[in-house]
Amino acid sequence: MATPTPKSILKKTPVPSTIRSDVVAINPGPRATTGTKPTPSEARAIALSHAHALQIRKALELSILMSLEELVDFPTPAPASSETSMTHHDTPALKLHLRYFQPSDYDSLIHERNILKLCGYPLCSEPKKSKATSNHVLIDKGLSTMRFVPRAKLERFCSDLCARRGLWLRVQLNDEPSWLRGDVLEGVEVGEKGEVIGLDLEGVKWKANGGEETMVLLEEVERRKEMGIRSAVKEGDLKKLVQELEGLGIESKGILDGNKKPEVARNGVGFVVDGKEVPTKQEPLTFTIEEKEVLGSAVAPSADGLAAGMSALAIEGYKPRKGPEDYIPKSKKPQ
Ligand SMILES: [Zn+2]
Repeated sequence: MATPTPKSILKKTPVPSTIRSDVVAINPGPRATTGTKPTPSEARAIALSHAHALQIRKALELSILMSLEELVDFPTPAPASSETSMTHHDTPALKLHLRYFQPSDYDSLIHERNILKLCGYPLCSEPKKSKATSNHVLIDKGLSTMRFVPRAKLERFCSDLCARRGLWLRVQLNDEPSWLRGDVLEGVEVGEKGEVIGLDLEGVKWKANGGEETMVLLEEVERRKEMGIRSAVKEGDLKKLVQELEGLGIESKGILDGNKKPEVARNGVGFVVDGKEVPTKQEPLTFTIEEKEVLGSAVAPSADGLAAGMSALAIEGYKPRKGPEDYIPKSKKPQ
């Protein structure tokens, strides 16, 4: 890192137990099958496989950390001979660095950039938002969804546009730690001295296998849309993004909607579910509101009516007794 950094809070990826269960699953030792003590050679094999898995994990964590350090200083200065390119000149490098990231690593990146007062989106060089004075900000004021959101969460990006772009990258990241991913571990070995061999740290294999296509930037999607090309984006990722944005009170309508119509209802017919218009068969209903015709005039209740029927004394249809004489059965009353 070239710039002087304030106190760093780089986190280690918190996945403590997964590696163990995974290794045991790959190498089900005698413990798992027979319940007896493993022989010394079996115990050694188990210990070695644990150690190897840890070595691979350490190598990948270091790679993630180095990528994180690089991305904190993104975007890099534009090359001198820069022609107006379709995408940002750092796009390929960004995708390369993010290939081993989990969402939590990306959060750390945003946090690190925010410490440097930079917008959380790695391709933006603007300073991050900082307007609010309190720790929590009230959003959706006056609506049923009105709530407080932590200020730090709202101010991670310089603008709503960068929030959309930045969070779109995040939802595309793999939740699975890189050291458990099958494609990453393919052909990887640990040598006699604990050196990890065959890890694609330069991203050569990744590039050859079309790795750049597995992640698509929002800008790329928008540009392709302008050219009439639809991008293959996962519905699940889209839902996650909309959820994230709604949590921040940021407008998400129209994002990546392609040819879909996000407007609610057209001519009052049909409604929108997940950005798709669901047509209704019926024509819109027509209502006429008419006032009821008044035939008589209102009459106030009179005291005579009350005495006659005693209906006013009845409680839910039952007339309470007045005195002790009412409790003597009529047949036993003195004549
Ligand atoms: Zn920005």
